[in-house]
Amino acid sequence: MARLVMKFGGTSVADIDRIRNVARHVKREVAAGHEIAVIVSAMAGTTNALVDWCREAAALHDAREYDAVVASGEQVSAGLLAITLESMGINARSWQGWQLPIRTSDAHGAARILEINGAELIKRFKERGEVAVIAGFQGVHAQTSRITTLGRGGSDTSAVAIAAAISADRCDIYTDVDGVYTTDPRVVSKARRLDKIAYEEMLELASLGAKVLQVRSVELAMVHNVRIFVRSSFDEPESIDPHAAPPGTLICGEEEIVEQQVVTGIAFSKDEAQISIRRVADKPGVAAAIFGPLADASINVDMIVQNVSADGATTDLTFTVPAADYERATSVLTGAKGKIGYQRLDGATDVAKVSVIGVGMRSHAGVAARAFKALAENQINIRAITTSEIKFSLLIDANYTELAVRTLHSLYELDK
Ligand code: ADP
Ligand code: ASP
Ligand code: MG
Repeated sequence: MARLVMKFGGTSVADIDRIRNVARHVKREVAAGHEIAVIVSAMAGTTNALVDWCREAAALHDAREYDAVVASGEQVSAGLLAITLESMGINARSWQGWQLPIRTSDAHGAARILEINGAELIKRFKERGEVAVIAGFQGVHAQTSRITTLGRGGSDTSAVAIAAAISADRCDIYTDVDGVYTTDPRVVSKARRLDKIAYEEMLELASLGAKVLQVRSVELAMVHNVRIFVRSSFDEPESIDPHAAPPGTLICGEEEIVEQQVVTGIAFSKDEAQISIRRVADKPGVAAAIFGPLADASINVDMIVQNVSADGATTDLTFTVPAADYERATSVLTGAKGKIGYQRLDGATDVAKVSVIGVGMRSHAGVAARAFKALAENQINIRAITTSEIKFSLLIDANYTELAVRTLHSLYELDK
């Protein structure tokens, strides 16, 4: 007997038929004698619709009310799954974030889980053989008792946090692909499923654009040593042997991975914007004058490149910000123009960041240099570069994203 967390994303609970399919997956594990906590997302498209309603009601709205609205999607799917399980003769009870409770910070819209009480769930596993169906994405702020949400894709984080709280043996993330691939399989048909991937690599993949797992869920799994297994909810539930290893990807410690490639995966993101500040005086304090106000406005700056301006006497600073913050960033910088002292501000939103990830880069030199050459051969211009121990990222024109990803995927022998 094991204790399992099973998480189902939006497409996996998209309608009543899909919810029945989820219930059959749960039934299979219950029949195998396991104790089960299920975490569900809102039905596909629901959260987007709720977010749109908030915006339509008022472009600038209170984040506490945003959370009150968007958390409702998961409440519906949790209740529906509990009803479906009961109708199949399986003891089940739904739980919302405030009921367990899942205590979070008060950062509405992007709250962090602080503490989960799993005692009641465990008691019910033991005494009633009851399946817990938990609404993902939401929690409650202890002091104000207000509903909070964990940021888009946050049900993954709910699942991992619950797994840690109830000491689950495994956290199965059921989704619409059968694992983590070398790159997004919906964009590159030659992408390959990985049997295993190290926490650190998954963390980079997720934070650099692969939305298969929320970044925070991987961080939590790494800290609490939760074994995440990403698998498909679209398999026939009854045809899966609960005692055999199904197709999927295990996210685990680096030491568990025997055959390590230099490059493990490629991520990309089109949610980037580039800002160039031209002809800034090349003297101490300039970077602080530029990046200080952006930090004060909570705008995350990512890639930074500084080079000599065309006049040879001043400097140009180029950097990226999230596309969603582009307008705000340019207005902050225009406001601070007098203080910074620059001639011109150029911006571009038609850019993309392509990132190559692999723990093998620690021990191999020249990995990035090969990418520069391959992209040059395809006439793809690189606007900015950043590197760290296990990854490098390149900023390019968004039109070339797919070509660049495919080129690098072949270059590092990730194709089938
Ligand atoms: P869910 O609704 O189940 O949470 P998501 O849509 O959030 O599912 O995440 C699954 C999607 O992530 C896949 O459909 C796929 O297009 C995308 N994805 C991006 N990069 C990868 C990758 N490297 N491996 C697998 N899926 C990826
Ligand atoms: N329903 C939420 C979202 O769409 C959370 C999730 O699916 O993980 O972002
Ligand atoms: Mg998701």
